[in-house]
Amino acid sequence: MADVVESFNCAKCGAPLKLKSGEAVVVCDYCGSANNLREDKFYIVRHSWLPNKLSKDDVLQRAKEWMSGGMIMPPGMEKSEITKADLVYLPLWVFKTENKTDYEGLFLREGEKKVSGTEEMEFYWKILGRRQSDFPVQEYKVPLSAKVPFSIEEAMEGAMLNGEMNEDEAKELAKQEIAAHMQRLLAEKVDKFETCETETKFGESEFLHVPVWFLEFSYGGKPYKLYIEGSGGEVVKGEIPPSDFLGGEMKIIMGIAAALIILVVCGFIALTFMR
Ligand SMILES: [Zn+2]
Repeated sequence: MADVVESFNCAKCGAPLKLKSGEAVVVCDYCGSANNLREDKFYIVRHSWLPNKLSKDDVLQRAKEWMSGGMIMPPGMEKSEITKADLVYLPLWVFKTENKTDYEGLFLREGEKKVSGTEEMEFYWKILGRRQSDFPVQEYKVPLSAKVPFSIEEAMEGAMLNGEMNEDEAKELAKQEIAAHMQRLLAEKVDKFETCETETKFGESEFLHVPVWFLEFSYGGKPYKLYIEGSGGEVVKGEIPPSDFLGGEMKIIMGIAAALIILVVCGFIALTFMR
């Protein structure tokens, strides 16, 4: 891995690009431009980033707050050892889109009724620029208002990942995801689709680096993951270990419920016989 496969130069400043195997969007070390590869040629795409605002101590504290988050956490969770806390700048493609869906189908909830129509929606759609990552990109509410143009001069702690998906490929994926999303939204109007065609028009697109803290913690001897967004400290996703305690508690509750039912039944029988 990590081999430099071929030599390419930055389309903006001409400096050599360090391109690793599988990468299709490369940030120039010298001028910070994002070079997008299309058919053996690079062109520059708009590049922004969200600066990280959290220190490692902030992140560890944030993680502990999340772990002591009350009822849903298993006991002793807040004492879990945090074994890893790494800052990574993940690449996202962000597309402004206008979408139009034509649909025909059946509405079945009040007898069978034919329905058809057109639904139009605009939104920003984001695609993770890496192929192998379990980062939950759709659950991550990108604070787009906090983004600033990328600047290589500003010191960037943490690792910055290049993109593995070029602009065209990311758009193709966005189209598919948007079509599925539109159909999901229409499920309240249509029970059975006969046709559902979505046409997507792309507006401005942007390559965006977002700061994500990748944490690992150990609970009951097993490793779990926690993702904390670095520009605002939001927990994007955390794995919650299964709780034995909850199981035990449920057994006690069920036991009490069973005892109460037996008491009521006995009482009822006693009353019946006393008459
Ligand atoms: Zn350059």
